[in-house]
Amino acid sequence: MKDFAVVGSGIGGSSIAALLDAKGYNVALFEKASSLGGCSSSFSHKGYTYNTGATTLAGYEDGYIVKEIFDAIGFVPEVIKTDPSIVVIQNSKITPRYRDFERFFETLNANYPHAKNREFWELVYGLNKEFYKYSGHYYTNANIFAKVKSLISFLPLSLRFQKYLRVDAYSFIDDYFGAIDEEYLQFLEAQILIVAQAPAKEINFLTAALSLGYTFNENHYAVGGFSQIFEDMTKNIKDVYKKSEIVKIAKHEEYFELHTKKKIFRAKKIILNSTVYESAKLFSDIKIKNYYKKYEKLDNHQSSFMLYMTIKSSKEFHHHYQIIEKSLFPHAISQAFFVSFSDVSDTKIAPKGHYSITASLHTDSRFWENSQTYKAQKKELEGILQNTILQKLDINESEVLECFSATSKTFEHYINRMQLGGNAITMKNFLPFLPANDTSIKNLYNVGDTVYAAQGWPGVMLGVKNLQRLLGA
Ligand SMILES: Cc1cc2nc3c(=O)[nH]c(=O)nc-3n(C[C@H](O)[C@H](O)[C@H](O)COP(=O)(O)OP(=O)(O)OC[C@H]3O[C@@H](n4cnc5c(N)ncnc54)[C@H](O)[C@@H]3O)c2cc1C
Repeated sequence: MKDFAVVGSGIGGSSIAALLDAKGYNVALFEKASSLGGCSSSFSHKGYTYNTGATTLAGYEDGYIVKEIFDAIGFVPEVIKTDPSIVVIQNSKITPRYRDFERFFETLNANYPHAKNREFWELVYGLNKEFYKYSGHYYTNANIFAKVKSLISFLPLSLRFQKYLRVDAYSFIDDYFGAIDEEYLQFLEAQILIVAQAPAKEINFLTAALSLGYTFNENHYAVGGFSQIFEDMTKNIKDVYKKSEIVKIAKHEEYFELHTKKKIFRAKKIILNSTVYESAKLFSDIKIKNYYKKYEKLDNHQSSFMLYMTIKSSKEFHHHYQIIEKSLFPHAISQAFFVSFSDVSDTKIAPKGHYSITASLHTDSRFWENSQTYKAQKKELEGILQNTILQKLDINESEVLECFSATSKTFEHYINRMQLGGNAITMKNFLPFLPANDTSIKNLYNVGDTVYAAQGWPGVMLGVKNLQRLLGA
């Protein structure tokens, strides 16, 4: 009998499993796919390796959450610092998001001049630095009394930032700048969307400021592709089961029974890293089913269209670009997309002289449900994104060795999820309406980007820390 069974090896599942293992608990980690990491994994195709979704690692620096958890596990990842974190290309404007404020600001202000620019970006910079200094808050859903007590722990944070929490980011920016031209607004919107996973109109200004400010923190590139991080982080766990989907979980008085298609395992406690929208179907217990079903309405269907490419080129590229176009892409909900290149020295992911490229564009999972039009839509968008990358980054067609794409359906097939934006914290959807890392069911826990706190490495890791606290581990 295991102390803990962790279902899913995404950022949340792998981190909590490695943390509990380091603390001496007997842990088993189950993963449906053949590689670890979920949305933040990597995979091989026709001899080349690609990052599946996530390509940037933020929050790995002293005083920040990812470093704190990695240190607690006793794990040092093989990473390279990236600066600029992103190079934003919008029409003829190129804006590198350098970590150093003045270095970034100089180009920003030349590209998008505005009298209020310095004041605005200093506010973003300051809020970003200050926010991460707050600690001591936690969030539980075990019962109403515990929940209210946990909400009180957010009081210092809410009081300090109330001015920015009460107002939506779009109105705040509009008021702040007075008049702002459409191109600059799109520049801001595009960067907010990739971090907050929601448009500026739907989120508070604090969330927007943290999204715009994340490039002022250290950002890292994972050497060898992201799955390598997960392999290394979980290497001490004795029982890591890949290609092992948990298809059913039965609750007994003192333990849970987990069923793969071939075997049955027992554990005293369960941590689910599957999305809260998908977890109900694992159970026949009505109370548990209903617990998860009530969160299915939070699914906003936000998803990603992916383009993967291998090129052979002697040119030099930055690690990450955001390309902003004038109008929405077809079958998409954004006019901007993110393009990441492997490091020129990283021969673990691409042979010398080659680059592995992962590009992602926001879409809605429901756009990919029509089996009649699916193939044609995929081909059309694949062609548009490929041409845009070649043109904007001056790559020759003859340099492209491989190019293929993936949709929400592909993610569903490999990792059981079509919604890929996590549970965005919006003006309508915030604590106390969000699911927590614990549940009202004894010994059943959640971790990942559809429960507290947010998406991406820093967001999911805040949830890992919260869960560690709730487990008293
Ligand atoms: C295209 C894209 C780009 C992104 N870029 C970045 C970025 O650059 N930087 C960043 O920080 N974040 C990025 N994100 C966000 C980040 O990747 C996610 O928020 C994060 O990886 C989610 O982690 P998670 O813990 O929720 O687990 P998930 O990634 O959802 O993984 C869950 C795992 O559980 C497994 N699983 C599910 N059900 C079962 C079952 N029944 N049995 C066994 N296994 C199961 C799945 O196969 C999967 O591996 C990006 C996301 C996407 C989609």
